[in-house]
Amino acid sequence: MHGPRSIAFFLDFDGTLVELADRPDTIKLTERTRDVLSRLAVVTGGAVAIISGREIADLDRFLLPLRLPAAGIHGLTRRGSSGKNHAAPLDDHFLRHAEYLLAPLVLAEPGLLLERKSNAVALHYRKRPDLEDVCRAVMAQLAALCPGIQVTPGKMVFEAKPAVADKGTAILEFLKEPPFAGRRPIVAGDDVTDEDAFAAVTSVGGIAIKIGSGATRAHYATADTATFLEWLHATALALENEVLNG
Ligand SMILES: [Mg+2]
Repeated sequence: MHGPRSIAFFLDFDGTLVELADRPDTIKLTERTRDVLSRLAVVTGGAVAIISGREIADLDRFLLPLRLPAAGIHGLTRRGSSGKNHAAPLDDHFLRHAEYLLAPLVLAEPGLLLERKSNAVALHYRKRPDLEDVCRAVMAQLAALCPGIQVTPGKMVFEAKPAVADKGTAILEFLKEPPFAGRRPIVAGDDVTDEDAFAAVTSVGGIAIKIGSGATRAHYATADTATFLEWLHATALALENEVLNG
């Protein structure tokens, strides 16, 4: 392990810090995990950021009273350690077309869930796996109508967003600022959009950890969310001991 002031943590949220749930709003962040995040933030001098597909306000609500540096909507928004907010420009053309194409579909097909974000949409089919192909096709249609829009398949979800930023670019921006600058990044995530983060940290000599099975660019893999959280807990303890004994 490296000294706690020489490393930085960039952690995905859903499937990494919390178990996936039927709906994005029914996940549970345990007290133990909130406590681990708080202790990691203290021992690293604030070098812990959440890198999620959710809106930052949504992350804040779950993490309360913790308020961590964060990237939202897969890197389209970012709040640095100083509290300064950054956001990619809204793509009105895309958001309008997303509504026209997707709203009628979710009305017609009970069980589909359309998650509207400030600059992205997510079409969840967890309760209608029979509609995977229909969802993929309508999202491809959306991408074809909207230049610069990228569709990414996730776990029982298709996400569409402007391709101007991703989780990897957000992490590289964090690494230009204190307290992250000059540190070795450790990133963990469980899904397809985390692969951008894995590639970015690998390019700067960092460490990538994939949660769960499947092809990945990460060097390390853990079996599941629970195993990863045990590792995170042990890592926080080890870093704290290093400070106490240092
Ligand atoms: Mg995830």
